[in-house]
Amino acid sequence: MRSLKNFAEFILTHHSDDYLTSYLSCSQEKEIPILKLFSHLSPDQLREMSRLGAVKFLEGLRDGTGLEQAAESLRQWETDSIPGVPKGAIHPSDLVLLYACQKFALYRLLPRFTSSAQESVHIAIELEEYYSQVQNNAVQLLFKMQKQAEQELALKNFQLEEAQALAHIGSWEWENGTTHVSWSNELYRIFGLDPDEKPITHELFLSYLLPHNTENLLESWWKAIQEGEPFRQEYTIVRPDGATRILETQSFPIYNDKRELVRVYGTTQDITQKRQAEIEKEISRQKDEFLSIASHELKTPLTSVKAYIDLMAQVLAEGSKGSPELVRYVHKAKDNLLKLHSLIADLLDVSKIHAGKLQLNIAPVNMKALLSECIETISHVAPQHKIILQGDADVEVRMDKHRIEQVVLNYLTNAVKYSPKSEKVIVDVTNTGKEVTVAVTDFGIGIPADKHEKLFQRFYRVNEDVHSFTGLGIGLYISAEIIKRHTGRVGLESEEGKGSTFYFTLDI
Ligand code: ADP
Repeated sequence: MRSLKNFAEFILTHHSDDYLTSYLSCSQEKEIPILKLFSHLSPDQLREMSRLGAVKFLEGLRDGTGLEQAAESLRQWETDSIPGVPKGAIHPSDLVLLYACQKFALYRLLPRFTSSAQESVHIAIELEEYYSQVQNNAVQLLFKMQKQAEQELALKNFQLEEAQALAHIGSWEWENGTTHVSWSNELYRIFGLDPDEKPITHELFLSYLLPHNTENLLESWWKAIQEGEPFRQEYTIVRPDGATRILETQSFPIYNDKRELVRVYGTTQDITQKRQAEIEKEISRQKDEFLSIASHELKTPLTSVKAYIDLMAQVLAEGSKGSPELVRYVHKAKDNLLKLHSLIADLLDVSKIHAGKLQLNIAPVNMKALLSECIETISHVAPQHKIILQGDADVEVRMDKHRIEQVVLNYLTNAVKYSPKSEKVIVDVTNTGKEVTVAVTDFGIGIPADKHEKLFQRFYRVNEDVHSFTGLGIGLYISAEIIKRHTGRVGLESEEGKGSTFYFTLDI
């Protein structure tokens, strides 16, 4: 009995034109998309191209290599390596349709090959087996593609979700004429809801808003829709757990050709932190402003009180008119006045630093002379401490003398203040030729390591107990700013209970 191979040989020899005609008319009738790729060819060119393909196909059937040929063309398709065919231009479903047309054309010629029913059935079985295999392969490829597309989509959705979560931005869409609003998962999270819990409706959304926000929101929503403009709205919600969040929504209405509203989509961002940061910034600005005004206002009367007390001390000393008590009281008042004066001066400096108005008068200064003067000043107020100057201090450095004195005095004041039970303070100077480092070491209470980083911040104090050591926590902040303006560095080494070394560097 003759087989599919003989049938293919028969068509090749006697009826290749007929086969081609049936095949082409079938594929044109089915409008297989793949044919559009060849729309630039004339009918003759298309026929010639299809003839070559058909001959190859029939030869494959004749030689028993049809299955491999079909598998090869699928592989080419999968790897997008068909010459002249752009990536993604043909689809495995095109191939399934082409196979159907091949089969159709072959069946039409079968009666010409044999009139034997038995032989026809035999060849039909072979044909069906062949096509079940090649079509199966194509369908598997389709399936694989669909999976890939799904994975890509899932990845894109995942990336979108990630991005939304990072930025705390959710998205939503509302179809006109429905009550249902679709929300992204992040939007559910912003509202403190579980995405799987319940579908969101317009009413449910509004129920989370503060009442006066609801009116405003609805008003601007309808106004924007009538005007056809995208709009932005800020409002506050109360989450199911009672927490309030400030949200900002941007909405974009979409219209059809007849200017009818089709849908509105938009984004909603949780801006609570942003708003809080703005409020804190404003409070801090107001505090700075208050500080600046208060210290200015305090300074003027204080200067005049100081002048009167100086005068009183002088009169008392000259004429010996007052009792010894009176002299002592005046001196006490003068000391306290000096403290007040320096506190106010520090506060004024903080305002200046903040406003970027700290002026420097730079000139060469001998470091040893400067340090000796400072040590002498502190020795007067803290006679119980022995302050030792050591190292290579005899060096000229360009600086604002008054400001660097301020830094050294602050370091020394702290050294004696925070080492009440020890007597020694060391001022050590090292000079590398490029920069000079001044380090003040005490053997006092020290500072825990986790506090070091914050010490140079404004108003930071290690000891919460304000009564044990007085101070405002601004001396180190001012010192750090002064040194920064000199392009130097500040730092410390300290161990709790053992003592501290505070240092600064200046370029020579
Ligand atoms: P104040 O001494 O007025 O509080 P400072 O800005 O000079 O402000 O210092 C900030 C904080 O750093 C102090 O409150 C203190 O806790 C800590 N500190 C500074 N110097 C020393 C030191 N030598 N030893 C221990 N703690 C110190």
